[in-house]
Amino acid sequence: MIVGLPKEIKTDEYRVAMIPSGAEELTRAGHTVLVQEGAGVGSGIADTEYAEVGATIVPTAADVFAKADLVVKVKEPLEPEWALLRSGQMLFTYMHFAADEKLTKNTLATGCTALAYETLRGRAGDLPLLTPMSEVAGRMSIQQGAKYLERPQEGRGILLGGVPGVPPAHILILGGGVVGKNAARIAAGFQADVVIADVNMERLRYLDDIMPPNVNTVFSDRHNIREELKLADLVIGAVLIPGARAPRLVTREDLKLMKPGAVMIDVAIDQGGCMETSHATTHSHPTYKVDGIVHYCVANMPGAVGRTSTYALCNVTFPYVLDLANLGLMGACAKAPGLVEAVNMHAGKVTNRAVAETFGLPY
Ligand code: NAD
Repeated sequence: MIVGLPKEIKTDEYRVAMIPSGAEELTRAGHTVLVQEGAGVGSGIADTEYAEVGATIVPTAADVFAKADLVVKVKEPLEPEWALLRSGQMLFTYMHFAADEKLTKNTLATGCTALAYETLRGRAGDLPLLTPMSEVAGRMSIQQGAKYLERPQEGRGILLGGVPGVPPAHILILGGGVVGKNAARIAAGFQADVVIADVNMERLRYLDDIMPPNVNTVFSDRHNIREELKLADLVIGAVLIPGARAPRLVTREDLKLMKPGAVMIDVAIDQGGCMETSHATTHSHPTYKVDGIVHYCVANMPGAVGRTSTYALCNVTFPYVLDLANLGLMGACAKAPGLVEAVNMHAGKVTNRAVAETFGLPY
């Protein structure tokens, strides 16, 4: 099979969908790997690293799409890529169709087989190709919080861990899932005083078991959240109700309870955010202030740490890429039934119920 790796063209996107070890495995298995010139540069991977393991470097995206049976990407196809996709070709990437009608209809019109990372199910019914990006965003949220708590960044001028004789920062994490757990782990390492709020008691029991003594848990209700906001130097928004908009757990009125210069990192912004005053920001302009509270609401946090994110993503996507190349679509789906759920479009038909219902398309 010919597997193609184009360069990402979305603004502020530095990830690439395959690392050289993946290209090496594919060529060893007898496949051809076409890599667009400069595809890995944003993640610090030179063309020569792909060439050394047997990949062929081609100058343009058109060269990749024209020949590849399977195209692997990170972000959804953008307008210049729609014209390059074709019937019978597989495209394996993050799609998020339900959020974008134009993307859905234009990708459908190409006739390609669209396999979405975000709907691929693991054996336990989980979403394994989303997990690593939540791990990155969770860990990064504390790094960003530490930065924006600094006075020159308009924060309260608080050091997360404090020092002997001065107490550490108090951090409230809303949602103890993948993002929340990873945020708590890093915050705990900084010696901060951490509280995780969740509505799932099983999850709170688990977190209570595995977290160090400077991480406590609290049931997420209105009263507890308001009490915690009074103490918080840093709030991390990490709630998710699958398939729904994030619940608004912090209202504008609640900001009055908080200390001036406190920081809120709303990681859940990609699902609408869990603070009423959140709106999406970019890596170029990540923060703004409302009523003295610093808001950070970057919707694609992992993009800023492209190298880490690329390796984290490829670790989980590559086994499926190899199966698709070795076994073809049907064979790979037979081997890993959860891959069937990734197929959002096939031969000009929508094959994902949620996407079809969102836009009134036949299913
Ligand atoms: P997850 O499903 O692992 O965890 C969500 C947690 O929220 C669950 O434990 C759930 O019980 C809890 N929850 C639900 N309602 C709650 C409530 N009212 N109060 C407190 N907790 C509540 O999800 P995740 O992987 O941790 O992702 C969290 C969010 O982060 C998602 O919206 C995800 O899309 C987003 N995310 C954003 C970025 C970014 O770059 N901004 C990157 C990765 C993930």
